Amino acid sequence: MRQLIAGNWKMNGLAGDTAAICGPLRTGADGLACDLLVCPPFTRIVTAANILVGSAVAVGGQDCHVNEKGAHTGDISAAMLADAGATWVILGHSERRADHGESDALIQAKTKAAVATGLSPIVCVGETEAQRVAGDQNKIVGGQLAGSLPEGFAGVVAYEPVWAIGTGKTATEADVAAMHLFIRETLVKQLGDAGNKVRILYGGSVRPANASTLLAVPHVGGALVGGAALNAADFLGIAKAAKA
Ligand code: PEP
Repeated sequence: MRQLIAGNWKMNGLAGDTAAICGPLRTGADGLACDLLVCPPFTRIVTAANILVGSAVAVGGQDCHVNEKGAHTGDISAAMLADAGATWVILGHSERRADHGESDALIQAKTKAAVATGLSPIVCVGETEAQRVAGDQNKIVGGQLAGSLPEGFAGVVAYEPVWAIGTGKTATEADVAAMHLFIRETLVKQLGDAGNKVRILYGGSVRPANASTLLAVPHVGGALVGGAALNAADFLGIAKAAKA
């Protein structure tokens, strides 16, 4: 299974930034051993999709609504993402869980809506620092998987310990190995053999300097990258560390 390197731009990226990042990715992605994905803000999905059309780089959104259309001011549907050129969507990122109070049930409904529209979902899970200090990480992540993934889920899961996101702190290889094994076992219990086929990304301060180590950990199927995805050279540096 090819690893997936996905860039989450969060609330960053004006027109000039989009061209500056996606231009070099268009050519730099040729011949990589991994799949590459950029998730710009909604306003620049069309821009990114136009720059990257016909290239090896896919485009995704960072959220979608559960409904296809209607009276939901400020929201974006999965159909709108697809219409703008996205083929993927990140769902349940810890920043959305925290900033917008998103529950597992809501994330499951969004995942169903994304899949029904033909988008590939990346569903995020991960514990806070306090939860890890209390030794509750498996309970938290297990609960998020049980609540957020619909029956028959065939997308991607991203394990992102909240304390490692944007902090420069990275989980140790041993922590990543233990959690990814726990997630794999949980997915198999939940989904049967299909759970073996789900790529499990690691996210949390992934950089070119630590990418080879993290991407070599068993059951790590790629990386979800925040800060380093805002620089094409750094993002490609991570992608070059990926395994086929
Ligand atoms: C993220 O936003 O999903 C993320 C992992 O961010 P960073 O790489 O900056 O820690």
